[in-house]
Amino acid sequence: MYKDDGIIIIGGGVIGICTAYYLSSYGQKVTVLDKGKIGHGSSFGNCGLIVPSHSIPIAAPGVVLQGLKWMFDSTSPFYIKPRFNYELIMWLWKFMKACNYRKTQKGIEALVKLTTESMGLYEQIMDANPELDCNFRKDGLLMVYKTAEGYSLGLHESEEVGSHGVQSQRMTNQELQRFEPGLRGDLHGGVYYPDDGHFDPYKFVDQLSKLVKSKGVEIIEDAEVKDLIVSGNRIDKIITPKEEYTPNWTIITAGAWSPNLSKKIGAELPVQPAKGYSVSYNRSGLSIKTPMLLSEAKIGVNPVIDGIRLAGTLELTGIDSSINQRRVQAIVSGAHEYLTGDSAKFEITNVWTGMRPVTPDGLPVIDRIPNIENLIVATGHAMLGMTMGPVTGRAVSEIVAGNSSSIDLTPLKYGRF
Ligand SMILES: Cc1cc2nc3c(=O)[nH]c(=O)nc-3n(C[C@H](O)[C@H](O)[C@H](O)COP(=O)(O)OP(=O)(O)OC[C@H]3O[C@@H](n4cnc5c(N)ncnc54)[C@H](O)[C@@H]3O)c2cc1C
Repeated sequence: MYKDDGIIIIGGGVIGICTAYYLSSYGQKVTVLDKGKIGHGSSFGNCGLIVPSHSIPIAAPGVVLQGLKWMFDSTSPFYIKPRFNYELIMWLWKFMKACNYRKTQKGIEALVKLTTESMGLYEQIMDANPELDCNFRKDGLLMVYKTAEGYSLGLHESEEVGSHGVQSQRMTNQELQRFEPGLRGDLHGGVYYPDDGHFDPYKFVDQLSKLVKSKGVEIIEDAEVKDLIVSGNRIDKIITPKEEYTPNWTIITAGAWSPNLSKKIGAELPVQPAKGYSVSYNRSGLSIKTPMLLSEAKIGVNPVIDGIRLAGTLELTGIDSSINQRRVQAIVSGAHEYLTGDSAKFEITNVWTGMRPVTPDGLPVIDRIPNIENLIVATGHAMLGMTMGPVTGRAVSEIVAGNSSSIDLTPLKYGRF
């Protein structure tokens, strides 16, 4: 007898769980498989900022030169582990091709639409489900600049996203001090983005997964997908160590691990893991109330996660969850160039590392894979995966339902690289 296991979502991070949320009312059986625990990938210890303000793709003019300078400094925010790896070399080549004015402008336009739409969807999700207790707040983000050069670049970026409708407000150093007394007095200025938000990222994914479970979605942990078997133009079997599934639809939302899965069916997905760190503190030494980006140091600050979390660095190291103390120290000392407080009083409660899934042009892939009619990939959200969770989940559900998409998915096509 023909077995139909409905929609199988592979990967239970923010993208997979938001997809399950939007598919849970679709009327088909939905199952989420994760190789570990739900929400324990990149969605776990990240900075938890929901940031339409940040809609400038990682691939932008000038980034290659800056990256080359940083590469030789072991404490810089960017690092590539030197190694011969064909996928990495091809990715870097495509990345360099994407670092031009025209592509960046198109990227900004696409990202602003995705991120602002997603912020609206977050508000809808929170209004509809007040039991989601994850400290969600939409009270803005402050970009802080130490140098005149950084501030001038920041103003330029605010104009770029501003031309697509993202509101911002410039602040002098004096205004910064009044707004956020936890900042040092020797900074240059800031830009405040009132429409950004923040939350506890893991609490959100964990609680949303419980919500979708209560609506009938099956959540299976410790179920690593080892193989995908194609028959004709369909995924016929999904193989895990304990079970085999016969999917009606397969959705790959496996973050930085997604290329390992697409390879099983011969589809190349140019996604590199971009490692980052976060350091969480209790509140004893710091008195910060505003979410911030410490711009030159590229460090995010989120004050609502049972304390304060700092996050930063982007390293192309492959999948590697080892902790390099020099990087951790670089984040801690980098933050102290902006924040007041005595580091001796801080108690570090957690040091974490995670893998952002990054495409060469910095935009996600949300698309069907050619020649396989029941497969959708949704990954490559880079530094904006938390921000773009809801808009991605809704887009996938619209593809499954055969409905026209609420947003233009053309810039997110699988075959664009
Ligand atoms: C330091 C840092 C700070 C960040 N800060 C922010 C921020 O402030 N705002 C923001 O918007 N974004 C931020 N991000 C980015 C964000 O964390 C990611 O873009 C997002 O979490 C990606 O979500 P995902 O669901 O695609 O991947 P993940 O959360 O990594 O989930 C993928 C899941 O797939 C599972 N999986 C993998 N392979 C298999 C398999 N074969 N079978 C079954 N399951 C599998 C994994 O176990 C994992 O749970 C940050 C990232 C880092 C590293």
